[in-house]
Amino acid sequence: MKKCSQMNYHYGVVLKIYPSDAQKHIIAVNDGAQRAVYNLLVGVDKETYRLKKTADIVPADRKRLEDVTLKIRELNGSGSDMAHIRNTLPFLNEPEVDGQVIATAKKNYTAAWKNMRERHTGVPTFHKKSYEQSYQTSNHYQSGHEGLNGGSIRFLDRKHLKLPIIGRIRCSGSPKIIDKLFSHSGQTRIGTVTVSRDAVGEYWVSLQIASDDPFVESLPKTGSQVGIDLNLIDLVNDSEGGSFENPRCRKKIQTKLAKAQKKMSRRANQAKKDGRELRNSRNYQEMRQKVAYLHRKTARQRADYLNFVSKQLIKSHDLVAAEDLKVRNLVKNHCLAAAISDAGWRTLLTMLKQKGEMYGRDVILVAPQYTTQTCSVCGHVMTGDQKLPLSVREWDCPACGAHHVRDTNAAKNILAKALESL
Ligand SMILES: [Zn+2]
Repeated sequence: MKKCSQMNYHYGVVLKIYPSDAQKHIIAVNDGAQRAVYNLLVGVDKETYRLKKTADIVPADRKRLEDVTLKIRELNGSGSDMAHIRNTLPFLNEPEVDGQVIATAKKNYTAAWKNMRERHTGVPTFHKKSYEQSYQTSNHYQSGHEGLNGGSIRFLDRKHLKLPIIGRIRCSGSPKIIDKLFSHSGQTRIGTVTVSRDAVGEYWVSLQIASDDPFVESLPKTGSQVGIDLNLIDLVNDSEGGSFENPRCRKKIQTKLAKAQKKMSRRANQAKKDGRELRNSRNYQEMRQKVAYLHRKTARQRADYLNFVSKQLIKSHDLVAAEDLKVRNLVKNHCLAAAISDAGWRTLLTMLKQKGEMYGRDVILVAPQYTTQTCSVCGHVMTGDQKLPLSVREWDCPACGAHHVRDTNAAKNILAKALESL
């Protein structure tokens, strides 16, 4: 049977789970174990970095550097060499610890370095313990077994899952999605599974499902192509003059959130004054949970809306072109940062890509330069004194006289750039 990665279609499913106290304990232990391995690797790195600076001058540091270098080689060894990590952190051998946490921690660590090199996210740092917990584990099939109920991670029925170490656990999710999963005709595999607790204190499991057959029926061709310009007044302006409003989810609850946050920090101060630990301060925890709940609510509202927008665009057009915005760079301008994060530009682009793949539509991202300042009719570029300030919403091209609505014109240019790149 094929591996998940070799299959053509991938689908993520998130289910709520209801662990017992013993199961909650297992989740906490594995979250801690994964973090310990990750931090071990980061710690060795940090020491190497420090020693490299002094090794030339201090003989003792030179010796230590040799030892640490050897240790890195051992720690980074693959497969059976994980014994070195197990020897360094003996609690990993306890029966409550999932065998997969070392591999996952190493994978995350490698990814952190890759992010640093490619996206300049900074050197990997220690992960701190937080109210959120999570760890990953992966599914194994013995030969001759397959499907949703054949692996080490499996559905016992529509309302129960079996997970490694945790065992049988009740789960719930959107009936529509569970129906879709159980009625899927092709061969289906469960791949990596993430078990987590969010800041509100609720538990979730997210399953990567793979199949050679699509999870959705492909959409009929529409013969339509569209360019979209991402904005803050409207979220999306398209090349046909249409738009989707920007719901500003965060902004809507800003007052409520600020009030709750203020109350939370007041309670934190009070607990400190009384010499109580925050962990044991019920008043503080109540408020912390409320703040987390408000954050989660906004994030869900935003995700719902962005799912709706991306679905509409993908449904109505064979090709969607958008700007490949480096949101990370844009967000450095902190006046815009909150507004851009709230709008969710990056999430929208990711959703478009995913849905495009799922429904067999083309989603093309183009470089954002000059899309606003170019006339989509004659190609005249507005430079120097002609450059359009942000306040100008409509303009006439000085070269050909065409009348433009600013964002619709930009969207037209984005579509043209995408078609050119094909
Ligand atoms: Zn023109």
